[in-house]
Amino acid sequence: MKALVLERTKVLALREFPLEETVGPHDVRVRIRTVGVCGSDVHYYQHGAIGPFVVREPMILGHEAAGVVVEVGAAVRHLKVGDRVCMEPGIPDANSRATQLGMYNLDPAVRFWATPPVHGCLRPTVVHPAAFTFLLPDNVSFAEGAMVEPLAVGMHAANKARLRPGDVAVVLGAGPIGMVTALAALAGGCAKVLITDVQAPKLELASRLGPIEPINVREQDLASAVSRATGGWGADVVFDAVGHPSSLAQALAVAAPGACVVLIGMPGAPVPLDVVAAQVKEIRLETIFRYAHVFPRALALMGSRKIDVRPLITDTYAFADSLAAFDYATAMRPTSVKVQIELPPDLA
Ligand SMILES: [Zn+2]
Repeated sequence: MKALVLERTKVLALREFPLEETVGPHDVRVRIRTVGVCGSDVHYYQHGAIGPFVVREPMILGHEAAGVVVEVGAAVRHLKVGDRVCMEPGIPDANSRATQLGMYNLDPAVRFWATPPVHGCLRPTVVHPAAFTFLLPDNVSFAEGAMVEPLAVGMHAANKARLRPGDVAVVLGAGPIGMVTALAALAGGCAKVLITDVQAPKLELASRLGPIEPINVREQDLASAVSRATGGWGADVVFDAVGHPSSLAQALAVAAPGACVVLIGMPGAPVPLDVVAAQVKEIRLETIFRYAHVFPRALALMGSRKIDVRPLITDTYAFADSLAAFDYATAMRPTSVKVQIELPPDLA
């Protein structure tokens, strides 16, 4: 089959790749139609590794996908040929202790698309467990379906925050994950979200997504904006979608007494934490790693239009132009949020 292959650092090829996959009784075969380009795909392309995960052999990229079921295993009951679906890209060991405890995203043996040595989904078809394959509502497009994976990160963060109706939240960072976290926070009951960045076009886009106040931290003081929005009390929840020593300090500074700070962005190195600053407000610190149990809820919110991710899909490339898509995603314009690749319905 023809696939987008990361041959080694900085070398991509759209080429024939030998992959034979059989459909087991609990699997489906899905024809891939839309794949989102993620920061992690770009990072592997540019650097060949993320932390302990090193690309040692050619690997197919892509993990944000939607498509059409073309074959179902004998034991599959909830899906049929022709169904439009999206897939959760991490497959845990069903018998692991983490999975038994409901934390399947933390299973050390999880096999996640486009995390070496596991191949991703920028190819004509994939075979996937039906249990990790979800029906798209009729009014949700393949492009939106491919946005469920990044949205799931924001949904998981919102769950961890234990939002209450009327909360005021701050989201640090208006990249794709910051944006979907703001959407998840509003859908989870926040009255208002303040979002920060240094790129004006991203903030302008964010401000059109709902009751979201953009704060350009190059020109504006976040602490005084939060103070104005909360009567001087502070934010009920702060989502750090940056993952930098300065953003962590900022999160603690603008959090209200008793607030929750959710760490989403992954720092490239250990960062210092002002423990006393957290203690004097009894801050509840939460962390997330990917997500669990949120795909059906994300799709329900898209189907009811409580969450609309369409404004975030800013750039679409044809599969034949995948190399150009990755080069664009490596040096994106500030007006761009999500780059997607569309695969033709008859790709072999
Ligand atoms: Zn992703």
